[in-house]
Amino acid sequence: MTFFLLLLNQVILPLTFTVLFHHSEVKSRSNFILQFLFTGSFVLFALVIGSQSWTSIFLGYIIGITFLVVSIKKIQELPKTWSFKLGDNWKQISSVIVQILLTVLFLPLSIYGISGYFIEDDNSAVNLTYPLQDGLYIVGHGGSNPIINYHNVSESQTYALDILKLNFIGIRTWGMYPKQLERYAIYEDNLYSPCDGTVLKVDKGYQDMIPPQRGDGHPAGNHVIIECRNAEVTLAHMKENSIVVDSLDAVKVGDLLGKVGNSGNTSEPHLHIHAEKEGKVIPIKFNGRFLVRNSLFW
Ligand SMILES: [Zn+2]
Repeated sequence: MTFFLLLLNQVILPLTFTVLFHHSEVKSRSNFILQFLFTGSFVLFALVIGSQSWTSIFLGYIIGITFLVVSIKKIQELPKTWSFKLGDNWKQISSVIVQILLTVLFLPLSIYGISGYFIEDDNSAVNLTYPLQDGLYIVGHGGSNPIINYHNVSESQTYALDILKLNFIGIRTWGMYPKQLERYAIYEDNLYSPCDGTVLKVDKGYQDMIPPQRGDGHPAGNHVIIECRNAEVTLAHMKENSIVVDSLDAVKVGDLLGKVGNSGNTSEPHLHIHAEKEGKVIPIKFNGRFLVRNSLFW
């Protein structure tokens, strides 16, 4: 059911409305604005709030670009009149009312999602290097509000990120939650030090869980905490028996720490990373970028 809802939100509805927009007759400039905002709000919702790693980021981009091309084509054919045409029959009138209601719901949600792309104080962030370097990665949860980052509801996790890897068609794995860990693109990827620093803590000895079963009692599973520029950076859910550093080791950017796994309180293999300074969670920038849901890096 969840996957069907994702498919509906992220592919079926934005694509269907874009096709309908393409075939629609634009009666006036005001009617165009409503159709543009209505269709755009679904496309924006899919790209900003939707988790594109489930339904293919490439497909998401194709839908976004198609919407832009259709919009430009419609702008070129715009009639001169501005007066809004409600329609001649109940079917046309109710369609306009539904479009207005759905736009009023989806557009503010998408704009709220985009507000999570920013941080209040740029100087509060610690700048790190990407800790994964072996493919195309996507942020599942990340950003400064809870609609794009579920960690945001917890004070001890606010700016934490969950990172996944994409396969060649732009999804994290085939299927919902396959039980074989190797079927997740990120599983067993090398995890590298994101800074020059010192290893403060190593916690290991936990088994990889079989998705979607979560481990309890040790939320972070096998994990490493590194001191990076006066911040404590936690890299969690590592693969069992993969950690190759010890407490108090000095590490340089790019040094191998271990491998991505599925230990601790996790539903599928991914990298969870967060940074703290003086007991407070602070934002992370990777190579100068504040990453949010659906951000890509490689
Ligand atoms: Zn997490």
